[in-house]
Amino acid sequence: MRSLEPDAGELRRLIGACADFVVEQIDSLPRQPSWDVEGAAEVAASFREPAPEDGTDISKILRRLGPAVSKSFTTSGPGYLAFIPGGGLPSAAMADFIACAVNRFVGVAAAAPALARLEATAVDWLASLMGYPVTAGGILTSGGSISNLTALVTARVARLPDDFLAGTIYMSEQTHLSVVKAARIAGFSDRNIRWVPVDGRLRLRPDRLEAMMAEDRDRGLRPFLVIANMGTTNTGAIDPLPEVIEIARRHQAWLHADAAYGGFFRMVPGGERLLPGIEACDSITLDPHKGLFLPYGTGCLLVRDPATLKQAHRGEATYLQDVKEGELAPDFHALSPELSRDFRGLRVWLPIVLHGLAAFRDQLREKLDLARRAWEELCEEPLLEMLDEPQLSIVAFTCVSRKGGDGNALAAELLRRVNARRRVFLSSTTIGGRFVVRICVLSFRTHADRVGEAVEAIRQEARALAG
Ligand SMILES: *Cc1c(COP(=O)(O)O)cnc(C)c1O
Repeated sequence: MRSLEPDAGELRRLIGACADFVVEQIDSLPRQPSWDVEGAAEVAASFREPAPEDGTDISKILRRLGPAVSKSFTTSGPGYLAFIPGGGLPSAAMADFIACAVNRFVGVAAAAPALARLEATAVDWLASLMGYPVTAGGILTSGGSISNLTALVTARVARLPDDFLAGTIYMSEQTHLSVVKAARIAGFSDRNIRWVPVDGRLRLRPDRLEAMMAEDRDRGLRPFLVIANMGTTNTGAIDPLPEVIEIARRHQAWLHADAAYGGFFRMVPGGERLLPGIEACDSITLDPHKGLFLPYGTGCLLVRDPATLKQAHRGEATYLQDVKEGELAPDFHALSPELSRDFRGLRVWLPIVLHGLAAFRDQLREKLDLARRAWEELCEEPLLEMLDEPQLSIVAFTCVSRKGGDGNALAAELLRRVNARRRVFLSSTTIGGRFVVRICVLSFRTHADRVGEAVEAIRQEARALAG
């Protein structure tokens, strides 16, 4: 019979080959193009194949993986300023390697009490960074979308009867699509969703929120959930929480902060002032794979009262009768839809312990400064119209149309030209019918030199277009 277990020597050789591959990948990141999907279709097609009956040597496999990795958006590189960057800390990859290799089960604490405690502690750290009391709790998820879904279901169970279709949900027009998807998955329809208008800085308007909630209540509906954006994906807009809290409380609605992008900025010195009131929300979505630079697949949902999370995921199973919940750590399966899952706690815990929180604070502080400097410099450009001063680390702008020209087409062409240099990679969005170019600074690998290059490229291309 063929063995699936390498002996110690062979295991070292395999790990060594993978380590060489990883070091080469990470070491070359600053020199890699910011994106390169030319010929990606052929590489992709080469992976359409039947499963092999016989094995392949690791070196041959890694040689095939190389081009599959490089023909892509270089999301972990310093030039990636598109969408919401993250990073992919090497220390988190090490943690995952260890977690997968030891393959312990953390879904029930009794199966690995210390590892479950380690993960629960990592969640506690994140809760404390948001200003939550020690009684708060939460769960690591695969990302912000699942965190928002879990929050929505938790709010529904906490605030509505089993027959919940009179419930109404309030969110600004700038809210992330995942919240709408979550509402649908949770059994609501578009009839249950209220889009609250935004102000000139794209923040939810509390006066409109109050009016909409009061109107729905008068019609016999049950306003039960308000979503507050702590940094929208489009522009990083921060909804006015102190006023929203008052309104949500008055209507006994659950207040959920979607801080997937913005949350971790609270940890920079003075960061409480950036996101005032977040600690008063009933739940908070965080994305450590954004603001903590961890690899994709790392989200978090925090709740002020962990009993609500438990209530939403309650149930008994006879096949789990041997593993009773203890005092040391929660049973994660009792707080989420998942039973078996990866040991994500190590991916959060190890980098924090290895680097210390101060390193993360420094990095996040730098990103805010870089965005502000880029904004100041681009404000000088006559062809550009800046949307707003950055509320966090996103700079958004449009092009001023000249001589009756099409500003949207101009902005799209500007974006194409800047990206064509392949040193930085920017993305766009549409706001109020206008084509908006965005710079989002968030990777731990992005520093002043690369943001400076982005600004210079935008300037040069804008001037060339202005002709
Ligand atoms: C990224 C993001 C999400 C979705 O998170 P994923 O991790 O991509 O699932 C939700 N809300 C906001 C504000 C985001 O920026």
